[in-house]
This record gives sequence, structure tokens and C-alpha cells, in this order.
Amino acid sequence: MSRSFLVPQTDPGASYDAHKEEIDAAIKKVLESGTYILGKEVKDFEQEFSSYIGVDFAVGVASGTDAIEISLRAMNIGRGDVVFTVSHTAVATVAAIERAGAVPYLIDISPETFTIDTDKLEKEVKTCILKGGKSPGDLKAIVPVHLYGHPADMPTITAIAKNYGLHIVEDCSQAHGSECMNKKVGSFGEMAAFSFYPTKNLGAVGDGGMVVTNNPDYIEKLHALRQYGWENRYVSSFAGINSRLDELQAGILRIKLKYLDKENKKRREIAGSYTNALQGKSIKTPKITNNASHVFHQYVIQTNNRSDLISYLQSKSIATGIHYPMPIHLQPAYKDKILVPVTGLEITEEICQKIVSLPMYPQMTTDSINYVCEALNRWSI
Ligand SMILES: *Cc1c(COP(=O)(O)O)cnc(C)c1O
Repeated sequence: MSRSFLVPQTDPGASYDAHKEEIDAAIKKVLESGTYILGKEVKDFEQEFSSYIGVDFAVGVASGTDAIEISLRAMNIGRGDVVFTVSHTAVATVAAIERAGAVPYLIDISPETFTIDTDKLEKEVKTCILKGGKSPGDLKAIVPVHLYGHPADMPTITAIAKNYGLHIVEDCSQAHGSECMNKKVGSFGEMAAFSFYPTKNLGAVGDGGMVVTNNPDYIEKLHALRQYGWENRYVSSFAGINSRLDELQAGILRIKLKYLDKENKKRREIAGSYTNALQGKSIKTPKITNNASHVFHQYVIQTNNRSDLISYLQSKSIATGIHYPMPIHLQPAYKDKILVPVTGLEITEEICQKIVSLPMYPQMTTDSINYVCEALNRWSI
């Protein structure tokens, strides 16, 4: 579908083409090994990925959604517990919290970084504690989302968590390699979840996910949860699920991990070209805060003339996306299952009307980048 545009918005197929020989060899190796679930490739990838992030342990699971759910469950967070996150995110973040049995409490975002507004977060935590409606004991965790590849404000979030006794599970699904204060995201929280959905900065050719942590106490539980709750084979100590990263995906991800930094650098270069082309226009370009390293999973602009801009780019055969058009607190499946501040989610609702994601994938050719920049530069509104 994406290939029907001259410039697609994303292109996972191009990522295969770029590393075809190595990926084909990795696939063949797995097929011939005869081990397809929880073998050497998964073990090696867990080791390589944890060392890339700068943490001690990694546990491969079947998706990013599962990674968040399993992280929460490993901390015994579940029924009746409250977990703070944002409404402006992939629905998966909130779905995972809900599936763990907890109640998602959705906080507004900062209009600059699209990540959780830490002032509003602290205010809600305090209000909850004062109101006593939801008892302080029920407030369990924060799930900050490093949306579009920009890190959430982890120093402040860590301080809030410490102050109020909350756990942190980072949602790093869009931020493989992103840094805050020269430290990779995924190494701040007690646990962090990654997705390897094909279009992510590190993408498989199917579903995949990872939980990372520095705490050895969680490892046995994580291993058990991803496989039927087994602590010993065939004996379930508690109710687990089936959520395993498979050998084929792990073998392919091991190849792609080697190129992640180079590809993130390319994403930053594309972002730089867009920002230059948009100088002086009435379009708001993405900000990067001090101490942050952005990996541009998406390059998201804001405009009051969104539908005009999208049709204009479409007329030039340039595809765009909207990530995301409807905040989670307004979605039919979740609107009755979440908590929101009484003051509402003003910034979230406002920016949903204005955001557009431009084409962004590391295999974009110089010609394509120039073509998009030229089109943006000629945009006259
Ligand atoms: C992709 C994504 C997820 C979920 O990942 P899946 O692997 O599709 O389950 C969760 N959170 C965010 C922010 C994502 O972008």
C-alpha cells in the first residue's frame, strides 16, 4: 500500500532490502538449527540488546503490548491499582495497562515534546492522595512514553516516582537508542518495554517485544509470565500467558541492531533537512529539549491547515500519517475504563487536530528527501 506513493510515509520493506544478504543468512541459520522457540538467537539477542541499552537483563516477548503488561504483572500491579500514563499515545500503552487489570489514569502532555507533562502529573498524584477517593496505596506506577523518539523528562519523573512511592515502566516502543542526559531510555525505570513492530526504529518482520530491567529479582517472574506461568516445565506457579519472541525474529533483530545507531543518525539528518525547509513557515517543527537525543521515530509537525497540507503533499505523491488522530480517553473501548483529571486534557485534544507525520525511514534516498523538502518549501500557507 505504502509503495503506491512516490515517497511512502514509512517503508519496512526497504529495511529488508538494505540488509538482505545478512537477513537471508540469519533466517537460513535458524531454519536449519531446528530450534524455533527460546533458543540461542533469543538468548544472544537478549544479551546484545541489554548491553546496547545499558541494563543488566532483557527478556524477549511477543510484542510491545505484552512487554508493558508483563512488566506490570511482574511487579504485582493489577486489579484496582492505578497506573499513570498519557492519552496521546499508541492505544497499546493503555490497552496493556488495562489488560494487566489496572486502571489507566491519563495525564496531559507538554505541547513542546508531546510527552507527559510532569507538572500536571505531580498535581494529579497529589490530588489523588488528598482526595483519598482512590487510596494512595492504589497508586502504583507511571508509564512514561518516549513518543516519536523524544525522551520523556526522566529526571523529573524519577523524582516524582521516588517522592510518592511509584514504580516506573518506560514505554520505549518508539525510542530505541534515544537518550536523556546521555543515558539511553529504558535504563531509567525499574523496567522498560520495547516493541519490534516492523516500522519501529528497530523492527522485526512480524511482531516482537522486549522487557529490560536492572533488577535480578524480576527475572524469574518475567520468564515464567511469558510462558504459561511455568517456574518448572509443565507446572504453572501462577497464571501466565504465551508471549515469546521467536528465533526467526531474534535472528533478524540481531542483524538490524548492528545498524540501529547509523540508521537513527540518518533519521536525525532527514529531520534536520525538514526543519530547514520549513524555516519561516507557519508550521511548528519538532523541538528537542536540552539533554535529549531524539531518534525521530516520527517527524511530527503542527499546522492549523492540516487537511490542506495533507492533500497538497498527496498531490505530489508524498504520503503522510497522523499519529494519532483520536486520544485514548475519547475512544469507545476505553472512555469508560480510564480516569482523567477533572480539568481535562486540553493540550492533548488540541494537538490531535494539528499533527502530521512526514515521511521518515532511514532508507529514504537523497532524491526523496530533497523532493519532500522542495514541496514543503513551496507550501505557501
Ligand atoms: C508500537 C507501540 C506499542 C505496542 O507495540 P506492539 O508491538 O504493536 O504491541 C506500544 N506503545 C507505543 C508507544 C507504540 O508505538
